This record gives sequence, structure tokens and C-alpha cells, in this order.
Amino acid sequence: MIPSRLHAALDAVSAALLVLGPASMKRNAGLRAPLTALGLGVAAYSLATSYRGRSPGRPIRMDQHRLLDAAQGAACLALARDVDDQTVRTMLRGYGAFSLAVAAASSPPGPTGIAVPAEAWATDLGDDLACLRCGIVNVAFIGAAGAGDRDWYLVDAGVPGSAAAILQAARRRYGASRPAAILLTHGHFDHVGALHHLAETWDAPIYAHPAEHPFLTGRQAYPPAAPEVGGGMMAELSWLFPRHPIDVSRHLRALPEDGRIPDLEDWRWIHTPGHTPGHVSFWNAGTRALLAGDAVITTRQESLRGALMPQGHLQGPPAYFTPDWTAADLSVRRLADLEPRIMVTGHGPALQGDALSERLHALATTFRQRALPNDSRYLRQPS
Ligand SMILES: [Zn+2]
Ligand SMILES: [Zn+2]
Repeated sequence: MIPSRLHAALDAVSAALLVLGPASMKRNAGLRAPLTALGLGVAAYSLATSYRGRSPGRPIRMDQHRLLDAAQGAACLALARDVDDQTVRTMLRGYGAFSLAVAAASSPPGPTGIAVPAEAWATDLGDDLACLRCGIVNVAFIGAAGAGDRDWYLVDAGVPGSAAAILQAARRRYGASRPAAILLTHGHFDHVGALHHLAETWDAPIYAHPAEHPFLTGRQAYPPAAPEVGGGMMAELSWLFPRHPIDVSRHLRALPEDGRIPDLEDWRWIHTPGHTPGHVSFWNAGTRALLAGDAVITTRQESLRGALMPQGHLQGPPAYFTPDWTAADLSVRRLADLEPRIMVTGHGPALQGDALSERLHALATTFRQRALPNDSRYLRQPS
């Protein structure tokens, strides 16, 4: 984490080096124009930046500034490829890499959350539950291994491109049997990537909360991401993530109003909005197993490292994609009150043990301090 004052100083030095450096180079005349232009560019966008978010006259926010930093760093790396002079090439590469590192390290801290040591990660989810990590997200299987045709359920459908991995895991656990249905916690792109393909392949119904249907029938896009929440590259780049609706109307059904899931005795769905309006979690009171979706997660999803290499970090929903924090707060309380013994979340490792319930209560009672980001357009104006 680089303080904004140091960041501003580094920008000034970078601009000066880029403008003055080429003037002292005797060879590599071809580099002078692009480097001078880059230097002037850095100076211009730095002068227009509100470094501490308190200069209303300056139009560039810090999250946008960092993307510009990353872009000029990448431009230097690209320029370096065509340079024959070894010293100049090394300097350009070093500067490019340094700029990318500064861009990444200047992200404001994301939600504080609660660290969860690896001893508390679940190793055994019980007979009727399994979890599969698909890149940055988890999917779950409800139903004992070897369950018959239409006798098990898939929860969520991974990032785009994960159909093969999900089908393979399903075949390993259930042979040629097809699921009774696909249950959705919500319709974000990283939870519905393989949905259409899987529903077609298995000819299976998809159950989701009615409030989530507009995003699953092509009618409505999710609200824009809030990259200003900070916490790392995932947040930074979140404005690029797809938020347009998919259309799986042909297979889509509403979850029954009474909390039941068709033909599935032991499980109930629980409305846990905030992250999305129709977000639900799934709960088995007998085994005290909870599938929380993104209502609470167990890794720092705002950072690229946290997303790719789950760390054990209990927090509220992924901050960049959460537009209603009041509802999200109430949802975490609701889940904490269940006092689960096993919990699988949309992102991060599954957790188990007595301390799980204590940690969930701690998150719920200190939601404002531990789950809220320092900044988000939706803290002022929920959507
Ligand atoms: Zn989500
Ligand atoms: Zn998610």
C-alpha cells in the first residue's frame, strides 16, 4: 500500500525521467518522441488527479489514475521490445515493471474481514455435499456420490469455460446420472458461465429467486461495478467484468415461495439479498451445512491473489459488485444466526468447526468495520 503523497511524488519523478531521459540519449533517437509523449501524458493526468479523493476540481479518480499508470508501464514494456541497446532496454523494462507494481500496490485496502487459519478450512463436507473450484469461483454438488438419475443438484455454474470441468466432476461423482436441477445463488457472470450449456446438456431446470430472473432472461443488466472499493486488481478491473443479462428462460423456474427446493427434502433456500436483489443461500438444518453463495465469502476476492489463490479470509460479499450494503449487512446477520458447522461460499475455501459460527457472528456484529469498503458509490446511493 503506497500512500497517496508518495504516489504523487513518484508520478512527478516518472514524468521528469520520461521527458528528460531521452534528451540525454545519443543513440535510440527513435525512442525520444514516444517517451517524451508518455512523460507529458503522465504529467497531464497526474495534475488532473484527485490523489486523496478530496479535490473535486480534478476529474481523475485514484482508481482511474492507477489504470493510466499501468497502461503507461505496459507501453514502456512494449517499447522495450524493439530496442537493441541492452542498457536502455533493461531500463525501460525496469521502469515498466515498476509502474505496474506501483499501480497494483496503490490500491486502497479492501474490506478488513477476519483472517481464517488453514486449520479451520473444511476437509470433509459430509456425504451429501461436495465442492469444486472453477478458477476464481466455487460450485457445489448436493447429493451423495453415486446418486441416481435426477437425484442430485448442482449449485451455481462457474466462470465461462468451466463446463468441461463441471461435467467431468459430475461424471466422477454421479456417473451418467443427470441432476434434478441446477440451483442458482445469483446470476453474476462468474456463477452462470456454463449454465446454458449444462442446462441444455442435462435438460435440467434452473431454479433462482424471482428477483434474480430479470438478469437471467435477458431483461436487465446488473448495476455498474464499483472499482473504487480498492483491495487490489480484481476491484481495479471490475468495470471490465460482464454484467449484461444472460437468457436461460427456457429452463428457468422460480424457487418455491415456501423456502423448499423441489424434490429435495433436507435443504431450504434463504433470501440473502444485498450482493444482488435475488441472492439466495442454501441451508441444511440436519447437517448444519450452509451454501452461502456470495453473501459471505472466505477470500479477498478484490485482490487478484485472493481470487486465484484463496487465502482464508472471512468477509462480506465481493465489494466491487455489491450495490446494497444495508441489505448485505442484514443477510450476514441472518446467516450467522443459523450457526452453521460447515460453510461453502462462492469464493474461497470451505470452512468447518465450532469457530466458524463465532467468526460469522463476529463479522455480523462488526459488519460496518470489517465488511464495508472505505469507499463505494453505493455506500452513498444504494442500487
Ligand atoms: Zn457475485
Ligand atoms: Zn461471485
